[in-house]
Amino acid sequence: MAPPWDEARAAAAALDAADPLAHVRDRFVHPDGVYLDGNSLGLLPRAVVPRMRTAVEEEWGRGLIGSWNTAGWASLPTRVGDRLARLLGAPAGSVVAGDSTSVHLFNALVAAARLRPGRTALVTDVANFPTDGYVAASVARLLGLDLVLVDPSDPLALARELDEHLAVLTLSHVDYRTGMLHDMAAITAQAHAAGGVVVWDVAHSVGALPVDLVEADADLAVGCTYKYLCGGPGAPAFAFVHPRWGDVADPPLTGWWGHEDPFALEPGYRPAPGAARLRVGSPPVLSMIALDSALDVFDDVDMRLVRAKSLALTDLVVDLVDRYVPDVEVVVPREHERRGSQVCLRHPDAYPVVQALIDRGVVGDFREPDLARFGFTPLTLRHVDVVDAVATLDDVLRTDAWRVPRYSRRSSVT
Ligand SMILES: *Cc1c(COP(=O)(O)O)cnc(C)c1O
Repeated sequence: MAPPWDEARAAAAALDAADPLAHVRDRFVHPDGVYLDGNSLGLLPRAVVPRMRTAVEEEWGRGLIGSWNTAGWASLPTRVGDRLARLLGAPAGSVVAGDSTSVHLFNALVAAARLRPGRTALVTDVANFPTDGYVAASVARLLGLDLVLVDPSDPLALARELDEHLAVLTLSHVDYRTGMLHDMAAITAQAHAAGGVVVWDVAHSVGALPVDLVEADADLAVGCTYKYLCGGPGAPAFAFVHPRWGDVADPPLTGWWGHEDPFALEPGYRPAPGAARLRVGSPPVLSMIALDSALDVFDDVDMRLVRAKSLALTDLVVDLVDRYVPDVEVVVPREHERRGSQVCLRHPDAYPVVQALIDRGVVGDFREPDLARFGFTPLTLRHVDVVDAVATLDDVLRTDAWRVPRYSRRSSVT
């Protein structure tokens, strides 16, 4: 007998009717079906479209070079940084936007290591997002540090590596595959007690839950804006430096935009105060304008409500899958305080299952080796979408629809 989806849908509709964030959904362009990949590329906020037309036709087309001043292009990295700071629990002047997460991470890790000369260990997550692992390995080689890989979900294993050798600990706030949320404040305190500094990557938490970098006492942080912040494909990333290091940090990428007065065009380098020294070269202006406009969506949004809705959505998935879809295993942590805004389901044939779902309008993604990953963007999804997605999954498994051979052919971006 098929599970009682109509009943589940009616209960979900009641939750949607009482949702204090329901109205925010109208601020986005919605594709057909159920889009559960907002943790890879967030939906397009409607207001970005006319804003980009003005940026291209007026500011670029007519204003040209003058727009660096008249349209405020030059101040975009710090202005957008200050808007991001509110979502990061950080003060104005401690965040800049521009470049990719990878570039910011390289800059932040070397700057962090330079705060702890003589110490020898760079510690990171054995299962970190690839770019974070690759960059950490390169920084360790460059600076002659020992790269130490740990599983941060195992507090004892982590504690063993945080000793008098620790220069830098770098971790992701939310594990991109399993959705596990790490206790930023507790881990940071542990690393500080060992005398090290900590660089957090909040790519998978900013915009999905309240992030409080200053309260957690993070030293530096990086993150991207094309996921939950809906900044657009390849949107500029950001970097944070705690105010205590703002005038001390010595980033290695001393591009002219990190200079105190870039347009003085001086031969010698003088770093700008605060996070502005983490700028590198000319900002990607059009992408920065799209991001600036996308952030309008968050202006009147209480991140505590976003977190509450995110947990309600992921609770609903876990509950429905547990009850009605026995062929998949829920991988995301059950405890709220350990859960990000995504759910991973394990199935030996996760790849073709995900392709069959995409064909039916339920867009998630596949992560090696056997995970189907679904992001739950609280501002754009309803509870009924969750029921529709799980009902579709149930149907795909129940009817063996995923066994169609074309669903097993791999494309380059999974
Ligand atoms: C998405 C993501 C990135 C992206 O890096 P880019 O250089 O901006 O492509 C980096 N780290 C983590 C943990 C991510 O989730």
